[in-house]
Amino acid sequence: MKKYVIALDAGTTSNRAVVFDKDLNIRGISQQEFQQYYPKPGWVEHDAVEIWQTQLKVLKDVFAENGISRNDVAAIGITNQRETTVIWDRSTGKPISNAIVWQDRRTAEFCEQLKRAGHGNKIREKTGLVIDAYFSGTKIKWILDHVEGARERAERGELAFGTVETWLVWNLTKGKLHITDVSNASRTMLFDINALEWDDELLDLMRIPRNLLPEAVHSSDVYGVVAGDILPGNIPISGMTGDQQASLFGQLCFEKGMVKNTYGTGCFVMMNTGDKPELSSEKLISTIGWKIGSSIQYAAEGSIFIGGALVQWLRDNLGLVDTAPEVETLARQVEDNGGVVVVPAFAGLGAPHWDQFARGTIFGITRATLPAHIARATLEAIALQVKDAIDAMVEASGAEIKHLKVDGGASVNDLLMQIQADLLRSNVVRPQITETTALGAALLAGLAVNFWKDYGDIESRWHIDKTFTPQNSDVNDLLRYWEKAMERTKNWIDN
Ligand code: ADP
Repeated sequence: MKKYVIALDAGTTSNRAVVFDKDLNIRGISQQEFQQYYPKPGWVEHDAVEIWQTQLKVLKDVFAENGISRNDVAAIGITNQRETTVIWDRSTGKPISNAIVWQDRRTAEFCEQLKRAGHGNKIREKTGLVIDAYFSGTKIKWILDHVEGARERAERGELAFGTVETWLVWNLTKGKLHITDVSNASRTMLFDINALEWDDELLDLMRIPRNLLPEAVHSSDVYGVVAGDILPGNIPISGMTGDQQASLFGQLCFEKGMVKNTYGTGCFVMMNTGDKPELSSEKLISTIGWKIGSSIQYAAEGSIFIGGALVQWLRDNLGLVDTAPEVETLARQVEDNGGVVVVPAFAGLGAPHWDQFARGTIFGITRATLPAHIARATLEAIALQVKDAIDAMVEASGAEIKHLKVDGGASVNDLLMQIQADLLRSNVVRPQITETTALGAALLAGLAVNFWKDYGDIESRWHIDKTFTPQNSDVNDLLRYWEKAMERTKNWIDN
């Protein structure tokens, strides 16, 4: 009997290996950071070889440090920082340049050209995405345009492209497998999310030869085994998804209308929108959640730039609190916000407002305003932004929201969770396990090898820490003033 599934969680700043047992308990975590390179303003790179080496090291460490035998491991699943682009030589396995990280903005100008040339609608209809430097397509083009001889070599079939999961599987199998899962493929701006295949028209538009691309496969399936001289034991690799999708899966949002939010530095809201992509809203990204067998789930995605970072700002810039958790104690000193509304548009506004010229403000200050009012309005602002994104998802998909599943550093704040439940008028559910990204990767891998039988088997082992039910229905003023405040922060700085 196998006892464990291992998730490889390949993040933006560190790689981790996390061991889960059948009851979804964590039995070991190893983690290692890797170097970030900022060669120019707006550019962010990783060394793909270092990504592979640190990922392999933590995988080996997690066995050694926790006394785990290879025979105990049923499968390995991978979740990854999305969109980060690696191109390597198929014969040597060596990258031809540093990886271009998702945050990198070097292709922004080319994206503007694509928009001006009127490609926006077509790209949204095919890929579910808005044209942006964030996605892999223009990053691939940049490498082919700028690394000497790269395009010719790509056309001759000598090179391979992959996002990080593809690169890791290539290395784990010593070049046997060149695959990506459909959720990661849906982040390239090259993948038709309806037809589930690479799109020739978009490949032509970005001058990318098709033979550079990996095969797009399911998110849960036995793809192959780890090569024996890397790690003996014939351990199956059987799950792959992008990090946000993995978190949606790890929150067990298996059905249409189920939604999760991660309250980290920013907030990442994702809703399962069912078996068809939802392309009616221009305010949201539509993406593939996962494909398991013949079943595919799509998701709507909204990124909010400032979430927990607003609490950090109160702590570090205003000095209103010494630690992040103290914001809750402070906010509880008052019954309400006393008319104060904080709009944290520090870097413009993300989904669903999309205004890069908006800036943050605090409205409604009077002689009676106390730090506690600002603390309270801070928590409200985080929850209100999440509500705006979820409202846009509900409107676009016609889905009825069942409840909100939460994770991330600020989700431990009970007052914030209560405000969120009141605003959404639905339950907010905080699970016991907050490592939802790694869990999602483990679950997808475990399902493929029958470690967990089915969704019911998983659901019976997944436990809630706390459910917040709506209590205060008197939120109309809050919503009205928020809307007013949002309008007044938009288009603030001169273009
Ligand atoms: P990331 O993964 O983006 O680094 P985390 O999930 O670790 O973020 O969450 C850290 C964020 O959560 C910080 O911005 C911090 O201000 C916020 N945070 C942590 N604890 C609390 C709390 N009790 N109340 C409100 N915010 C908190």
